[in-house]
Amino acid sequence: MYDSIVIGSGPAGLSAAVYAKRANVSVAVVEKEYEGTGQIAESENVNNYLGLPNSNGYELGEKFREHALSLEVPFLEKEVVQIVPLGTVKDRVYEITFDDDTKELAKTVIYAAGAYPRKANIKGEAEYAGKGVSYCAICDGAFYKNKTVAVLGGGDTALDDARYLADICEKVYLVHRRERFRGAQSTVELLKKRENVEFILKEQVTEIFGEKKIAGIRLQSGKTLEVNGVFIAYGSIPQSELVKDIVKLDEAGYVVAGEDGVTCTADGTKKQPGFFVAGDVRTKKLRQVVTAVSDGANALNSAIGYLSDTAGCEE
Ligand code: NAP
Repeated sequence: MYDSIVIGSGPAGLSAAVYAKRANVSVAVVEKEYEGTGQIAESENVNNYLGLPNSNGYELGEKFREHALSLEVPFLEKEVVQIVPLGTVKDRVYEITFDDDTKELAKTVIYAAGAYPRKANIKGEAEYAGKGVSYCAICDGAFYKNKTVAVLGGGDTALDDARYLADICEKVYLVHRRERFRGAQSTVELLKKRENVEFILKEQVTEIFGEKKIAGIRLQSGKTLEVNGVFIAYGSIPQSELVKDIVKLDEAGYVVAGEDGVTCTADGTKKQPGFFVAGDVRTKKLRQVVTAVSDGANALNSAIGYLSDTAGCEE
């Protein structure tokens, strides 16, 4: 039995594992993607992580992982298929079942499973998924060297994607439904200076069309744009399906918790003893590497309090 099982190996999970090891809490990190470091690996440029400006997301993720490995954090390369709280509030243990039918027991769980990209539900999106429609510019951008692409969305991901693709592609359309961007104004300013980036604002894409390959996109106004690829950056969906009967979720599916990562039972009436949440899957305003790392430390600190019975848990 572990003191703590961390589910997810992004910045939040790895941070929790490092804090666990340093506090002599027996811990294992579960990751369904072999040697994964979460969504950060897909960010080409992380420029706001204190002390490490101009970092490549993949390399930063690798540094986090190396830190955990240097403390001999064990990694379980499996997918969690079920989490069952056993016992009573006073002697709670979590039984975690994996996709290979093995099980582990843990006194506490740090749930740091992150979030995945939101689909746009546009005509043609499913048909051309993987054949011109992508949700990851860093992964697929190289296929569009000297070609024309559209990036959909107005958050930081869309802006970063447009910036990344502008270095590879001949032309990048950035299509956003509003005039104001949700993402960093500093990136907007940088994009404005790029001659091969065109802003298409107050527009929605209604269709992705083509034959074998994508030929273009249709906009709500009726206009069409010829493009070879479409990068959808409409934000993310929390990976919380697995825990929806254990802890309280908000309307968007994020696990409800404060900075301490302490969760409530699914009906929201009391605390869920020993179950903590960290990173992008938690309800919060700012989803960044720095807040994920901070979450991991806070959640583990709460777990330590719980394990030593100082946090307590009301029935
Ligand atoms: P986001 O901030 O939620 O932005 C999603 C964008 O997609 C919004 O502009 C939204 O439009 C648009 N959108 C969503 N559904 C749409 C629809 N059906 N039709 C048209 N447009 C739609 O998601 P994100 O950009 O992935 O960022 C998530 C978090 O990660 C943020 O906190 C962000 O700051 C952070 N992040 C940081 C970095 C970095 O620091 N380098 C990089 C990536 C992400 P509206 O604006 O109109 O709602």
